This record gives sequence, structure tokens and C-alpha cells, in this order.
Amino acid sequence: MEGQFRIDANRRTLFVGLVCVDILNLLPKYPEEDIGHRCIDYYKQRGGNASNSSTVFSLLGGNAEFFGTLADDTELSFIQRDFEKFGVIFKNSIIISEKTCPLSIVILSLESHTRTVLHTNKDLPELTLDGFVKNINLNSSEYGWIHFEGRDNAHEIARMLSYIKEFNKVNEIHIFTSLEAEKLRIAPYLDELDMWKLPDIMFVSKDFARNQGYTSMEQAVTSYYKKVKTGAVVICAWGEMGAAAMSDQSGLVTSPAFPPSEILDTCGAGDTFIGATLFALGQGKALQKAIEYGCKVAGSKCGVQGFQNLT
Ligand code: ADP
Repeated sequence: MEGQFRIDANRRTLFVGLVCVDILNLLPKYPEEDIGHRCIDYYKQRGGNASNSSTVFSLLGGNAEFFGTLADDTELSFIQRDFEKFGVIFKNSIIISEKTCPLSIVILSLESHTRTVLHTNKDLPELTLDGFVKNINLNSSEYGWIHFEGRDNAHEIARMLSYIKEFNKVNEIHIFTSLEAEKLRIAPYLDELDMWKLPDIMFVSKDFARNQGYTSMEQAVTSYYKKVKTGAVVICAWGEMGAAAMSDQSGLVTSPAFPPSEILDTCGAGDTFIGATLFALGQGKALQKAIEYGCKVAGSKCGVQGFQNLT
């Protein structure tokens, strides 16, 4: 297993998915309905699963690019400056005029350590294969890995993954792919379009697995492993329990969580886990070591606000 997913340090990892603005409100406890509350703090940050994972990957020293659609509104300069600040390339992303940047209002409760997300996407269109082909040049040999956030455009994601699969068949340099199943609404598409069989690595979130009736990370990876293609890997993060993974070579492997001394902000813990695990795999770490590294970085993230002070 060691080194199975190693990629050349100068080849980039592309994170495909959403970028939005997050407004996080820190409260002593979860608010009651229909009364005013004083927050301890609030902060605004660039969010979205793929966007967050690219930030973490870059902070760890990786060569990261984000690819998605961006609205040409008042938030655009904030998002662009923030990608630059964290050293994430975004030059190929598609800027669309007269659209609104998606927004997440996040309620962080210090008492229960929960993060409740209220997300609005008014009109920003999702990516298509056409947009991908026009803007991402696979022939440039720049890319070593392409990670997809499973979103409503499941049909288009399946087409993009298939496109990379065809590219790999006729090219010497292999581009690894991964897919995140986190949003519950993509579950039917994964089966219907047989998307399980497309990526080299399938990340399944705790919420997704629990919604399908699984009660532990070990049970989830063992079952989902039967759905992926031969040689592929299933990885499942499970909050305070840590993470589990399964592959041909390593069988079932697990890592505990690494809680910080104080939990401050768990928003983006799963995205951090993905960014850090991909970074470790790309460096040639074995599967168990890679998920352990993912859990360590995700645990540290829970102890800091946002991503700024992660490393
Ligand atoms: P998501 O953000 O997708 O809900 P999880 O809650 O499963 O993701 O967390 C992802 C990873 O973050 C876990 O595998 C774990 O390593 C780490 N993590 C999350 N919550 C905690 C916590 N309370 N203490 C320590 N680590 C945590």
C-alpha cells in the first residue's frame, strides 16, 4: 500500500466544487427561537467543502488549485484575495456575471460543540463537463490528483470523472481521482449512475453513512468497499471516533481522533480531514498513516477558529 498514491511534488491537486462565503457566529449555547442573542464573536471566511480542503492542502505545503464557479458580485474580491492569501491557485475558475455568491450562516455552540449551517445558493450555476474541458487542460501534465465534492450536479461530476478515466487510458501519466459523498441528496445518483465505480478514492462522511443506516465507521467502510471499483479505497471520518478506511492491500484500518484541549470550531473538520489525508497519500504515506495524519490535522482544526492558525 505504501506509496500507491504518491504524486510528484510539482504536480498539482485540483479541488473541484463550491466556494462560498461563511459567516460564523460563536454563541455560548445553541440559540432559542424568536429572541435576540448576543454572540461571543463572529467571523467571515471563505467556505465550501472543496475550497476548504484546498486551503488545508496548501497550508500543509501542497500544490493546490480550486476549480469552480464564482459569482461576479461584491464578494468576488474577498474570495480572490483569500485564495491568494492561502496560496491556492484559482485562475481557471469560471466567473459568472449577474449571479450571487452562495452564503452560509453558521451557528457555533460552545456548549454542545455543534455547528448548524444555514446555506443559501440563490442562482450560481453548478459546474458542467463542458466548463471543465474548456478550462482545465489535462494534457499540460500539471495535475496529479483531481478531487470532486459530490454536489447536486452529480450527472456532470460523473461525466467529469469518466472524462478523466478516458484520459488516463491513453496517457502515460495517471491522474488519481477522489469523490466526497457528504450531501445526502447525492445518494440516489451514486447508485443510479454507478459513481461508486469511478474514483480511486471514495470519501464517505459520517452523516451520509448514518443516514443510510450505518452505526459505525468500520461497518460503513466495510459495506461501501463492496461498491467501489477494484483497487479503490473507501475512507470514512466519524467525528470524535476518528476515521476508518479500507483497501485491497491494507484491509480495514482505523485511526482515533486527536481532540484539542478546547473545541472552538468544528466547521470544516471533514474538509480538513480530506485535505490532509489527500496530502499524506500524495506524499506516499500508507493508508493507515494517511488517515491518522488526516485526524491529527482535523483535530487541531477543531481547536482553532477558521483555518488561519491551523499550522
Ligand atoms: P464533518 O465535518 O464532515 O461532519 P467529522 O465530524 O466526521 O466531519 O470530522 C472529521 C474529522 O475531524 C474526524 O475524523 C476527526 O478526526 C476530526 N474531528 C471532528 N470532530 C472532532 C472532535 N470533537 N474532536 C477531535 N477530532 C474531531
